[in-house]
Amino acid sequence: MSAKVIDGKAVAARLSEQLADEIRAFTAASGKTPGLATVLVGDDGASEVYVANKRKRASAIGIADHHVHLDGGSSADEIAATISRLADDDAVSGILLQLPLPHGLDAGPLIDLIPANKDVDGLTTLSAGLLARGEPGLRPCTPSGVIELLDAAGIEIAGTRAVVVGRSALVGAPLAQLLTQRNATVTVAHSRTRDLADVTRSADLLVAAAGRPGLITADHVRPGAAVIDVGIHRTPEGLRGDVDEAAVAEVAGWITPVPGGVGPMTIAMLLRNTLLAARLQQGEAI
Ligand code: NAP
Repeated sequence: MSAKVIDGKAVAARLSEQLADEIRAFTAASGKTPGLATVLVGDDGASEVYVANKRKRASAIGIADHHVHLDGGSSADEIAATISRLADDDAVSGILLQLPLPHGLDAGPLIDLIPANKDVDGLTTLSAGLLARGEPGLRPCTPSGVIELLDAAGIEIAGTRAVVVGRSALVGAPLAQLLTQRNATVTVAHSRTRDLADVTRSADLLVAAAGRPGLITADHVRPGAAVIDVGIHRTPEGLRGDVDEAAVAEVAGWITPVPGGVGPMTIAMLLRNTLLAARLQQGEAI
């Protein structure tokens, strides 16, 4: 068997075009331009590249750019003051605090200063609570990107056996909740899971979000399963995921490539969340 490749880059590009149309219509109707504030603290090279990419994609579809770059030596109080200013600014629909923060700064309390209706990363305690209760809110970008990718590929979620490898607050835990809400029967595996391959082989739908390069081999995959690779690792051979792509493609029914799978969807979901946030601030339901 050779798996069908799910082209995340193409799905994200289609979604961005659609969002550009929706933003034009929103602006025409409300007189407001959705605005995204990216807050970068310090000079971490990878974070600078990620933020630049998000700002470029946002500007390309008509989202106003409200970038703030703070010095790496900024105190928690200084970062908090910036977030509070952006929270009060009507021109700012969404606020994203780029992680990781420089060593010694605790991200949690700073993230929680972002109002839930501007929380485009979906990472505040309030947004996590809304997700846990299945109430409307802004969802974390990577997990919602995975759901969007499955839908775009026409892969059934309801009724399937799904295994999510990883339980982080950023990816694994919220994804397991989203899959459960879409009526999959979900198992969450983690670093203490015994006989991982035995667990993952039960999956119709297998998501690898462990941050371990090549963790998922052909032996972990049930023939015909859909395998979604969230992992990103820089190697001398280029970007790689948590899945041994060549071997698993021989067994799986569908597979996402790295790069070009989940990664582009994460940014597309950030752009969608920025429009949803702008709608929330207009008093619309999402
Ligand atoms: P994380 O916070 O390090 O969490 C990793 C999770 O995987 C933890 O729950 C850990 O278990 C589990 N795990 C680690 N080793 C394992 C093993 N050998 N077997 C089973 N489970 C194992 O990482 P993250 O932030 O969720 O990110 C995961 C990966 O996704 C990373 O490669 C990251 O770069 C990538 N990522 C990609 C995107 C994207 O846009 N594509 C976005 C975000 C993250 P414990 O809980 O027991 O420690």
